[in-house]
Amino acid sequence: MPVELYDVVVIGAGVAGLTSSLKLAEEGLRIAIVERRPFIKIGERACGDAVGLHHFREIGLEPPSYVVKHKYRGVVLVSPSGRHRIIVPGEGIGVDSVKFAQWLLEECIRRGVELLHNHHLESVKVSGGVLERAIVRDLTSGSRKELTAKAYVDASGAIPALRTKLPSEWPISERPRVTDYNAAFREIVELNEPPEDPDHAVIYFNNDIAPGGYWWVFPTSGGREVNLGLGVVMGKGLNPRKNYESFVKPLFKGRTIHSAGGLVPTRRPLPTLVWRNVIVVGDAAYTVNPIHGGGRGSSMLAASIAARNLAEAINGGVSEESLWKINIDYMKAYGAKQAGLDVLRMYLQLMKNDELEFIFEKKVISGDQVYDLGVKGRLSEEVLNSIKRLLSLIAKPSLLNKLRLVKSYMDRAEKLYLEHYPKSPREVFKWIEVVDELYNEYSELMGYALGPRVSW
Ligand SMILES: Cc1cc2nc3c(=O)[nH]c(=O)nc-3n(C[C@H](O)[C@H](O)[C@H](O)COP(=O)(O)OP(=O)(O)OC[C@H]3O[C@@H](n4cnc5c(N)ncnc54)[C@H](O)[C@@H]3O)c2cc1C
Repeated sequence: MPVELYDVVVIGAGVAGLTSSLKLAEEGLRIAIVERRPFIKIGERACGDAVGLHHFREIGLEPPSYVVKHKYRGVVLVSPSGRHRIIVPGEGIGVDSVKFAQWLLEECIRRGVELLHNHHLESVKVSGGVLERAIVRDLTSGSRKELTAKAYVDASGAIPALRTKLPSEWPISERPRVTDYNAAFREIVELNEPPEDPDHAVIYFNNDIAPGGYWWVFPTSGGREVNLGLGVVMGKGLNPRKNYESFVKPLFKGRTIHSAGGLVPTRRPLPTLVWRNVIVVGDAAYTVNPIHGGGRGSSMLAASIAARNLAEAINGGVSEESLWKINIDYMKAYGAKQAGLDVLRMYLQLMKNDELEFIFEKKVISGDQVYDLGVKGRLSEEVLNSIKRLLSLIAKPSLLNKLRLVKSYMDRAEKLYLEHYPKSPREVFKWIEVVDELYNEYSELMGYALGPRVSW
């Protein structure tokens, strides 16, 4: 079998793999991307395609105008009855998934990145305590290649292809619980009439229609085209497509342009994004926002952080010690917030429609506070006080007690990922135990059934 030598082999040409490759190539490294899709299908995936503009600014990436299909002024959250709305400010864009990926890919290729499209990562060889080679199969010819590199990036998405092939004692091979995922289905539809609110991405909460998730209408073109979808918590025997077709599709008249489904890891990040000479980014590292399921922005963020630190470490020897700063930087920039929001996510998934309706109807939380919660990941004292005020008028003590509990666990989770995140890899095993204890204790107190670990 032919053997190639690269600085870094990246598995997956999604937004995480392409951003990692681009940033690494900018540092002058020799990169290969392995992608099982053919070239023209790169970027074609199930997504709502809405991304907050701040994500691009944070990593200094400016997508060209032909990639941007739509501009949002914010997000509207709608109560289960449909009667109450919260407007969350914040500029966002709707991207053309394929054009966006193809643009990133062109930028990579222009900087010398080699693309092995139609190539599937089949197996790996671990030797001397490191990942020594990746064995990939050419899906057109059936032939195999062995790729060797100083470091490997797993950017293979929600069902990770690389890290799940690594020794189980490496903490990056962790398998999450089934309920850590949402299963989602979406269609791009050209409506007969323009959408009701073309300026906002609209999210509908209803735990009967979309248990443990939500359904959405994201205008995508300034015209009549919309991205309609629905997500549900995984592991409860629910089928998002079925719910979409029963409840959402009948509300809209139009022509379906494209349908697709996928998984979203709506949880706290992988305990460590690095081990030995392997780095994990994007959905493979669960960098998604646990509440709204947006993962493109945080994938790009994780990829840039990883690339910056990897480029610095690569010539001095790659190991979890030399790459540890990737974890420190990521947890500080986004991961700690995810840890807090993961606690809130479980609570929201348990909420009944009447409790959700109450929050909306009584204006317990404002759009600015929701924005703040999204950005900082913290439930403010202000929100709790407003609930307390309202609950003194209405007999709902259980809601206040639950929210107090949620807030205290959110704060503790965030602290664990921020202030108490291991300073070195040696401490990570003990830390994982403490984290697991916290989430297990919380889920038991809330009556949240975590379910088994995934089978892949
Ligand atoms: C229905 C739905 C709606 C969503 N809506 C939004 C939204 O509106 N906004 C937002 O920000 N996020 C949204 N997300 C989440 C977002 O799409 C993801 O977080 C993001 O695209 C993850 O990018 P990634 O690069 O990590 O993974 P992916 O895009 O999944 O890329 C992984 C790549 O790896 C390749 N690959 C996998 N296995 C192998 C293998 N063995 N060998 C070679 N290649 C392999 C795959 O073909 C793929 O191209 C949504 C997700 C879903 C499912």
